[in-house]
Amino acid sequence: MMQKYQLFIDGQYCDPTSGEWFDSVNPYTGEVWAQIPRADRADVDRAVAAASRALHDGPWATMTPSARGKLMRRLGDLVAEHADRLAEIEVRDNGKLLAEMAGQVRYHPEWWYYFGGLADKVEGSVVPIDKPDLLTYTTSEPVGVVAALTAWNSPLLFIAWKCAPAIAAGCTVVIKPSEYTSASTLEYMELTKQAGFPDGVFNVVTGVGAETGAMLVEHRDVAKVTFTGSDVTGRAVYQSAAKGLKRVSLELGGKSPNIVFDDANLDAAAAGVVSGIFAATGQTCIAGSRLLVQNSIKDRFVEKLVGMGQTARIGDPMLPDVNIGPVTTPPQFQKILDYIDVARTEGARCVLGGKRAEGDDVANGLFVEPTIFVDVTNDMRIAQEEVFGPVLSVIGFDDEDDAVRIGNDVIYGLAAGVWTKDIGRAVRMTKALKAGMVWVNTYRAVSYMMPFGGIKGSGIGRESGMKSINEFLETKSVWISTSDAAPANPFIQR
Ligand code: NAD
Repeated sequence: MMQKYQLFIDGQYCDPTSGEWFDSVNPYTGEVWAQIPRADRADVDRAVAAASRALHDGPWATMTPSARGKLMRRLGDLVAEHADRLAEIEVRDNGKLLAEMAGQVRYHPEWWYYFGGLADKVEGSVVPIDKPDLLTYTTSEPVGVVAALTAWNSPLLFIAWKCAPAIAAGCTVVIKPSEYTSASTLEYMELTKQAGFPDGVFNVVTGVGAETGAMLVEHRDVAKVTFTGSDVTGRAVYQSAAKGLKRVSLELGGKSPNIVFDDANLDAAAAGVVSGIFAATGQTCIAGSRLLVQNSIKDRFVEKLVGMGQTARIGDPMLPDVNIGPVTTPPQFQKILDYIDVARTEGARCVLGGKRAEGDDVANGLFVEPTIFVDVTNDMRIAQEEVFGPVLSVIGFDDEDDAVRIGNDVIYGLAAGVWTKDIGRAVRMTKALKAGMVWVNTYRAVSYMMPFGGIKGSGIGRESGMKSINEFLETKSVWISTSDAAPANPFIQR
């Protein structure tokens, strides 16, 4: 049945001022299943005004951090209760496997529990000041209204990653999900209401990125922008936010090397490489899209991967035994096919897949076969640019130095994987690789406790982990004189 969604502003679901909606398409069936409101400037203004009011005047402004934490934990419980429904919406909207989504949404409450627990542990400090007759201390205050812009591959997860630390810090948020996958974020707001958050603490405006998203980023009363998306959009968002001197966190793309040495457990490494590039149909920022494999085992290892790729079942993401679901959006689908052409033109050799998937079960959806290219050199576009699809580029290397040189020779620096049984080599590699995250003998593990984010072209700042709350806090320095005496000379600095 067709769902017609509304915006969520100031604790209420409401129609967009424009009176316009746009379609959301199920990438497996190709059918329109929902209508999403197109927010214009008036809606963005209303949402930011509601968030500002809640921040400064409402019950949220005076609520103790402990009480905030309780609401957050209640929200976590509600998400756990509604996990199955939320997972289903996400699968319908973005085509991720239900098997993955169900696990992801069940894990999602942990962000609310963890950061809910942190809300009342943000402490200032008394500074033993070097001047007489003064009490000096610092406090941490919410940075202000936060604009949270999310990508289409994991909208629900990004709500937790961005909003849990922001809300723990006492901020209020206006979320702008991707126009391709807005439904789950809008549904989620019902749970924030049920949890008891005051009106205006959470708001959602939906619409096209270059319109609604851009208006939100440039809004005068937004103090902080936290963005997940492509590096091209990330740069535009950074520039726009700079004009208003806003705080910015950017979680952007990657071209992460998954590096396999000849002493590795090759079965585990092959499973790690497959999970790094074919899970979520390769539509993850941390995709291990460059396989760097030691030349001495390259052919043998690639053969193993091809075997695993050939047996992967492509189809309906709702089915438990399907391994590869559809690509989420038509432009992304075309982009992947274009990159496959580019790879061939550049001289890479395709040993698996390399085209749109065929068959009755996938006829209406946006399916690409799991694809592996060998004979890739690191200067090729297929080795340098983010495809964001199930396309693996295989590059051989001779030794550790060679692996580090090739691994780091890319504009991105989000993640890296290392597969070896040599502990010394593992430690050396984790130090030498220029990436925000390095996994050794595992890949694609994430937790609410571990900082997530990249360096270089992969972004600025970290999400998750205790310190991520600092992205949403400002320090205030307080100076209190304990003396009634007037300064001896008021014309010079004290
Ligand atoms: P995108 O950059 O197209 O869009 C991201 C968000 O920004 C969407 O909500 C979109 O509507 C909005 N937007 C678009 N143009 C805008 C503008 N001019 N001003 C303000 N907002 C605008 O990204 P996408 O295609 O949705 O997602 C895929 C990308 O996200 C990939 O590059 C992937 O690597 C990256 N990603 C990064 C991480 C991470 O944590 N590092 C996680 C997931 C995805």
